[in-house]
Amino acid sequence: MKQFINGVTLELMQGDIASQKDITAVVNAANAELRIGGGVAGAIHRAAGPGLERECQPLAPIRPGEAVISGAHNLPNKYVIHCLGPVYGVDKPEDELLADCYRNALNIAEEKGIDSVAFPAISTGAFGYPMESAATIALKTVLEEAKKLKSIKTIRFVLFSKSDLEVHAAVLKGIAM
Ligand code: ADP
Repeated sequence: MKQFINGVTLELMQGDIASQKDITAVVNAANAELRIGGGVAGAIHRAAGPGLERECQPLAPIRPGEAVISGAHNLPNKYVIHCLGPVYGVDKPEDELLADCYRNALNIAEEKGIDSVAFPAISTGAFGYPMESAATIALKTVLEEAKKLKSIKTIRFVLFSKSDLEVHAAVLKGIAM
């Protein structure tokens, strides 16, 4: 599914965030220590190799809502943007912290002149954020930010399961301008 806003293409697809060959920066649903973990952080660090953890150590720890950028090592991308999502029911206000992740990731990408960014569904795995609420925040934030973007031309959401993709598609349909 694709949507065009102010010269930016917003794409929703099912897939693996660690195999987005045509994307300049992939976003990691990181842990505060920026170490290998489960889910997205496991897939990204395994594909990138141990150099990614080494590069990230001076940048850690990060706070919920924060984003930092590193090289992509053995991933097929140029950069990884690491975001720490809120733990649902623990880090408050969780909706604002989740929106901060998307805003801060896009701002860092703009500062670097990056043309394409791929996001996973931050906080919806181990951190327990309900998929539909998280999708609403993620898509609303990205649609709002898209109006201001200059260098970013493609934003892709890479959803792990078919049902996660369907939830995002339905939410996007509901808020599309
Ligand atoms: P968090 O700790 O922020 O909740 P997780 O990595 O546990 O992050 O999960 C975030 C979302 O990413 C979940 O919806 C999960 O199903 C999904 N996911 C897990 N592995 C991958 C992957 N390789 N590519 C894309 N999405 C993934």
